[in-house]
Amino acid sequence: MNILIFGPNGSGKGTQGAIVQKKYSIAHIESGAIFRKNIGEGTELGKKAKAYIDRGDLVPDDITIPMIINRLKEPDCKSGWLLDGFPRNKVQAETLAKALKDGGIKLDYVIEIVLAREVAKLRITGRRLCVNDNNHPNHIAFEAIKPVEKNGKLSCRVCGGDLKTRPDDQDDAAIGKRHDIYYDDKTGTMAAVNFFKNLSGPKTISVDGTASIPEVSEAIMRQLA
Ligand code: AMP
Repeated sequence: MNILIFGPNGSGKGTQGAIVQKKYSIAHIESGAIFRKNIGEGTELGKKAKAYIDRGDLVPDDITIPMIINRLKEPDCKSGWLLDGFPRNKVQAETLAKALKDGGIKLDYVIEIVLAREVAKLRITGRRLCVNDNNHPNHIAFEAIKPVEKNGKLSCRVCGGDLKTRPDDQDDAAIGKRHDIYYDDKTGTMAAVNFFKNLSGPKTISVDGTASIPEVSEAIMRQLA
């Protein structure tokens, strides 16, 4: 099963992606997480990407597109994949569609988590990332996923791991830019969403992102074969 998942930053896309990935045992490819790993490891790719990410800009297509297209060719993708964070603009969408077609790879589902911009913004600043698994949901403003207190500090509610924030989650200008890109339906991510929704092959699953984590995942699972 091959899936694209879309949703603005703050929509719970990473959390839902992780739930679907586990259920179907498919590769979970997150472009943002690949960049952050490379930044953490100090690789050349990480050095090139860091300034763009800190500002909330897209990393240029000539870096991002080959990184993802090559990742899809790795052996673990043979049994299916869920792609999260890519494509982020129309050019990436068209390039991906062509690469899939050329490779004889079928896209089965396009999942879209729909959330208004103001709500997405409120959610971003309070989220906390677990150092052990960035898809362990922790948010200081939501009772159901509040971090726990351990040795006097807030820790991951799933595994007790340390929590950190993403620098681009605490910067108003960076949040604004990421959302400008997401909600842009001319050349940005919404243009990519509409491009894939209009293709005849894949089935589109649109879900309301204001519901709770279990409700959103149930709505997605109901529609996945
Ligand atoms: P995310 O974790 O998906 O919020 O991504 C974090 C940051 O990584 C984004 O704000 C971009 O700077 C960069 N990034 C992630 N995916 C892409 C992409 N498909 N194209 C360009 N830049 C990306």
